[in-house]
Amino acid sequence: MSGIVYLVGAGPGDPGLLTLRGGELLALCDAVVYDALANPALLAMATMPERKKTPAEMYDVGKRGGASDSARQDEINALLIRLANEGKRVVRLKGGDPFVFGRGSEEAQALAEANVRFEVVPGVTAGIAAPAYAGIPVTHRGASTSVTFVTGHEDPSKERDSVDWSALARAGGTIVLYMGVRTLPRIAKALMEGGRSPDTPAAAVQWGTHPHQKTVTATLATLAGAIEREGLTAPVITIIGDVVDLRREISWFETKPLFGRRIVVTRAQSQASSLTEKLIALGADVLEMPATKIEPADPEPIHRAIAGLQRYSWVIFTSQNAVQIFWHALRQARLDIRALAGKTIAAVGPTTGLALIEHGVVPDVVPDRFVAEGLLEAIGQNDVRGKRILYAAATGARETLQVGLESLGAIVDRIALYSSVPDGEGAAALRERLLAGDADAVTYTSALSVNAFVDAVGADAAARAPAVSIGPVTTAAAKARGLEVAAEASMSTLAGLVDAACELFAASPLTGAKS
Ligand code: SAH
Repeated sequence: MSGIVYLVGAGPGDPGLLTLRGGELLALCDAVVYDALANPALLAMATMPERKKTPAEMYDVGKRGGASDSARQDEINALLIRLANEGKRVVRLKGGDPFVFGRGSEEAQALAEANVRFEVVPGVTAGIAAPAYAGIPVTHRGASTSVTFVTGHEDPSKERDSVDWSALARAGGTIVLYMGVRTLPRIAKALMEGGRSPDTPAAAVQWGTHPHQKTVTATLATLAGAIEREGLTAPVITIIGDVVDLRREISWFETKPLFGRRIVVTRAQSQASSLTEKLIALGADVLEMPATKIEPADPEPIHRAIAGLQRYSWVIFTSQNAVQIFWHALRQARLDIRALAGKTIAAVGPTTGLALIEHGVVPDVVPDRFVAEGLLEAIGQNDVRGKRILYAAATGARETLQVGLESLGAIVDRIALYSSVPDGEGAAALRERLLAGDADAVTYTSALSVNAFVDAVGADAAARAPAVSIGPVTTAAAKARGLEVAAEASMSTLAGLVDAACELFAASPLTGAKS
């Protein structure tokens, strides 16, 4: 049984910049050894329950104790060798590219010496990605035909500086500086003494590719002062060269409509991702805080309903959760969509409708207004007198629909498929951030999510950030809990909610960027 170590580049921060190979290995490995800046979203790939394997062992070697750098590196090397010798497949996850100022090559040397098999999975290095996300190409025809990656870790005032700054100054081209925020004043001086013009455009990109990326532009002579004024600290990539000016034309990431906005998503974890994805795509910094989590209800009633499915003319689904849980129960009963043949199917709105379509059923009724009243109106277009309707809902759902349908003469069996319960995890931390004024908005997707969120973080904290509501029922619930609703979706869908957030922020331009 022989183990192997994969030296995997994690990319600069945006989890989308992990390579396919890196993602595959994270999903398959037995152990992950990672550093301080590792993105939790990537680490989750090695531990998530959906993984085919049991969760990987996780080793955080990023904590800075009293040990010297080289002692720490020896410990890391020893850990990698030990894990591999235990027969494990080990991912050594390293920021950016493992072989660019990352000591990955030293780890490879130690592995080679110990006769441990290893492979290298290159990553997207910060020196290319951070400028790219700031709208700065590291080369550009006519402006720069070469690029030098250089570490600023070496202090140019040191006796023996291994970087020849004046040669670099004379070489022209773009200079990309890693680890050089603190030493920049002396490096800039050395470059200017070497003949680089003080007016050379220069930029510093902090937390490049992260939603809270911050970019400062100046000149070679003035950048150090600008960095100091703006309070940038590591991790920062510094770019020196005429290419920096291109940012004015081709900045793309920091110009997204929600860039720099910190938005809380209150949906239950299992359904947060599609809202989160939409917000992130528009540049938002999302704090995903599950205000509710989905707990399946007592399965007995649903099993009974499915066993007697032939009695129903209609089946109504009021959320995508209801659809998922219903299908799960169908499968358990060894049934499939044919069990729904001939029935009229209604969905409360497009998201629920889509969930049905994904299961092979095109809903017959999807109302224009995505609330119980709208659904009632749409169903009421049909003659439902004497018809038996299966109404699959959440525990504690409003009575409106059932009462309304019954008054139209239908026989309604309402079964609770699941309940949304408060998820206290992380609530305390979020409360602190809200109280510190650290969130720009909170999105609410249902009355349930309003109540669960306010219960979880406290009314005082919830009221600190403007509320963005998915529709009138949610808005009313928010107002009832003392929240000020800053924006309401005109279409009660996740896309409508996102539009409402964009409009809200378009009306209040960003002032000083957030840290
Ligand atoms: N192997 C890494 C570099 C490690 S050295 C890579 O290929 O990217 C650490 C330095 O990288 C930091 O001091 C900073 O200069 C730079 N860096 C890493 N991630 C960064 C990011 N997201 N934004 C800006 N600089 C970053």
